[in-house]
Amino acid sequence: MLLIKDISKEYCTGGLTQKALDGVSLNLRDSEFVAVLGPSGSGKTTLLNVIGGLDRCDSGDLVINGVSTKRYKDRDWDSYRNHTVGFVFQSYNLIPHQSIISNVELALTISGVPRAERRGRARQALEQVGLGDHLDKRPNQLSGGQMQRVAIARALVNDPSIVLADEPTGALDSQTSVQIMDLLKQVAKDRLVVMVTHNPELAREYATRIVELHDGSIVSDSDPLQIEGSGLKRARHRKMGKASMSLGTSLALSFNNLRSKKARTFLTSFAGSIGIIGIALILAVSTGVHAYIDKVQEDTMTAYPISIQEQSFDLNKIVGSSQEGAQSKQAGKGAGDAIYPDDSAITSASALTSSISTNNLSAFKQYLDNPKSEIRSHIGRVGMQYSYDAKFSVYDHDPKGTLVSASGVTIGGQGGGMASQMASMNPNSSDPSQVQSMQMAALTGKAQAKSSPSSFTEIMPGQDEARAPIGRVIQDNYQVLKGSWPKDKDQVVLVLDSNDRIPLATLYELGLKPAGDYNDMMAKLNNGQKVKTDTAKLDYDQAMKQSLDLVPASDQYVQDADGHYRYVGDDAGEVAKLAEKALKLKIVGIVKPVHKASATPLPAGVGYPRALTDYLIDYAAKSPVVSAQQADREHNALNGLAFSAPDDGAKAQQAKDYVASLDQVSKAAMGTAVMSSGQSGQAGQVQGQVAGQSGAQGQTRAQGRDGQAVAGTPAAQQAARQAAAAASFDRYMATAGTDKLVSIYEQYVRPQVGSYKDNMTSFGLISRSAPSSIKIYADSFEAKQAITDAINSYNDRAKKADKITYTDYVGLMMSSVTTIINVISGVLIAFVSVSLIVSSIMIGIITYISVLERTKEIGILRAMGASKRNVSQVFDAETGIIGLLSGILGVGVTLLLLIPGNALIHRLMGTSEVNAFLPVRAGVILVVLSVLLTLLGGLIPARKAAKQDPATALRTE
Ligand code: ADP
Ligand code: MG
Repeated sequence: MLLIKDISKEYCTGGLTQKALDGVSLNLRDSEFVAVLGPSGSGKTTLLNVIGGLDRCDSGDLVINGVSTKRYKDRDWDSYRNHTVGFVFQSYNLIPHQSIISNVELALTISGVPRAERRGRARQALEQVGLGDHLDKRPNQLSGGQMQRVAIARALVNDPSIVLADEPTGALDSQTSVQIMDLLKQVAKDRLVVMVTHNPELAREYATRIVELHDGSIVSDSDPLQIEGSGLKRARHRKMGKASMSLGTSLALSFNNLRSKKARTFLTSFAGSIGIIGIALILAVSTGVHAYIDKVQEDTMTAYPISIQEQSFDLNKIVGSSQEGAQSKQAGKGAGDAIYPDDSAITSASALTSSISTNNLSAFKQYLDNPKSEIRSHIGRVGMQYSYDAKFSVYDHDPKGTLVSASGVTIGGQGGGMASQMASMNPNSSDPSQVQSMQMAALTGKAQAKSSPSSFTEIMPGQDEARAPIGRVIQDNYQVLKGSWPKDKDQVVLVLDSNDRIPLATLYELGLKPAGDYNDMMAKLNNGQKVKTDTAKLDYDQAMKQSLDLVPASDQYVQDADGHYRYVGDDAGEVAKLAEKALKLKIVGIVKPVHKASATPLPAGVGYPRALTDYLIDYAAKSPVVSAQQADREHNALNGLAFSAPDDGAKAQQAKDYVASLDQVSKAAMGTAVMSSGQSGQAGQVQGQVAGQSGAQGQTRAQGRDGQAVAGTPAAQQAARQAAAAASFDRYMATAGTDKLVSIYEQYVRPQVGSYKDNMTSFGLISRSAPSSIKIYADSFEAKQAITDAINSYNDRAKKADKITYTDYVGLMMSSVTTIINVISGVLIAFVSVSLIVSSIMIGIITYISVLERTKEIGILRAMGASKRNVSQVFDAETGIIGLLSGILGVGVTLLLLIPGNALIHRLMGTSEVNAFLPVRAGVILVVLSVLLTLLGGLIPARKAAKQDPATALRTE
């Protein structure tokens, strides 16, 4: 029973107030066929909408089965429309993109009835209206009468107790109208049917009751119902059943809608995808550029690690001071009135010498090795590299069997003069630290006489030496032409430069070409003659057959009869003996830098493994000369001289001891020098003589021995003269005062005393905690900056002696690159943000248009009992699908565009190293982003759609 109590409804449009309903009261029976008649505009539709819960009245009450609707919530109205009421409209109001059966199912779908049951009931309802054969057709494939029957089936499918029909035959011809009326009459048998019509004949023929409306008021009622007692009882409030729609239903609805408008959907998605394409392209290009920049950074940092030498000079300081110098030259410009001194040369020389410093690498190594040091987290993939100056000599036999030294061909001879030194300089040495150590030697005047052959370089091991004897930088930048990398301490490789060459001098040094040719060539060079070089190429196999004899530095010191050790590295006879029992190095491979190598830390020559360095470190520690020196730390193991002379007495005594220990030849030479220099003895001159004397010592000694064998020769006469000179020097020493003896000590003995530390260095003793150089590799400029910052803060904390001077080549070369990169990144991010905003606005607009388009559908859904939430869900589903399509389309189009795009980039940039590419993860994120953005953009339109008044929505065409 439905009671309408005195309801009124007004519409205000502009200034005009229209009374659509004016105090209508009407009681309807549970089962009757009521026809509402009246002229157009009399309020029939408004009345029906109020009864059906599509519209609210301004005043009055609607009592349904004894329940007042005054306190109905939105949810209750939704449920009422869904379960209690069925609507039939004049213009059918079927959803065009859904099949007939789906349209009928809709009411059940909204109330969450399972799919199978839905299907069955919808089919049954359609069969009931005689459309059992048209289930899968679309509404526009049916005639008007058929469509109206579908609408009736849809109204009936939920078995409502009230069916409301608004001019159901208004658009039909009379014959079809009759069929529909028959149907409705049948429907009305067991429920209430309220039908609006302006066809009085039909009304009179079919309806059981006729109500006439005029200007919003009832003017006649053929069968009014008077209610007493129970009907007038106070209305109660009661909850209705639920009306709910699953997300799947929303998606299906939207998906079907989109499917029916393929072209439009495509265009919409395309419009939405433009933003995504923009973002994806920018992302791809910036990823490519960043990958390139990262690679350049890593390559640069690999080629130019931060390097710290045991002894170093601060390049930054020198560059700085020379710039300062240039400036001060400007500032110190004369006024044209006098002579001004130009001190720039001396200032820069002073800057140079004052910048030389010794680094305490063992303290710094402790800092680096501490896993808690802040520097550790910035170190790149290549890691840190400690190098040790392992000391050794290498000898080999040239094709003619001559014994050759790898340090300068001739044994004991650094002496080919300028020519040979220049000839052995490696022209392709790209390693700046090597260049630096050469400059270092020149600056400090520290001769490299007894250091290892310069053509030998250690192959940088990996971070974990044991597992990776050959480091990543080497593996990445060198290729093996023949053989393999060394696997053991006695294996080495020949390293060629990128043009497959090795310096000719090195080939001579390695005995790969006859040493005689080299010596001839050097002789000619020193005489200023032209030379013809031997450029014949060598077979890999032939070169790999060469065996190299490695003699550790400590083995080059042999004990003499007097208990002192003697250096025999420049004595060809001794060397031949040493070479016999030397460690035989095998050349196991030939390598060269790969094409476009980013770093070439191995210069052309010989590369040896870290295992050899380790072997040499251990070997030196156990050697006799080292043990001997360690046993007596006070005296030089080479000549027995005391390292220290605390006072004049000690010095005088030591001068005496020294002279006494000399053999006759040396004593005579020294005596001549001391006695002839007299008081005026200038240190420089004397020292020069001493140097000359000690160089010639071995030779003279040998001559002396030979000379005695043949008496009466000029040599014998010379020996006699020397004996006399020695004897007179002995007398001189016996009478000399302390002053004299001290001065003799200072001039002749002191230069030969040396120091414990220097001796140990010469013997090749190395402590693993004190590397000779440290290289720190970073992966990016930023990390490098962090590393130098960490070193600076280490320096701030460290004692003065422990402060570290490092060389940061990259910092010197390109400090501004980082800024440029940051600016570029910033610009790209700005672009991306703009694209994002543009694309979300675009999507919002598109969704909004879609809402406008589907207003009618919203009305239908609401009439079926869909809640506001359901409606917004449908739209969210639609925007979501569009977003997904946009995203996929955007990413797809981007991938296609990248093909010509990359070709263009390669052309414009002139390098194929910059490759724009979209990472998979970014692609997925973009699709998700597109969905999220579209949802966000569609949120407001979807809310608006949900808020739409269903009655108004249905009125729109
Ligand atoms: P009928 O269905 O009998 O033709 P309606 O119920 O549609 O009449 O309309 C009743 C009156 O209310 C009409 O005068 C119409 O102009 C007015 N009306 C209906 N809906 C609105 C609306 N949304 N805004 C303003 N006036 C309306
Ligand atoms: Mg109407």
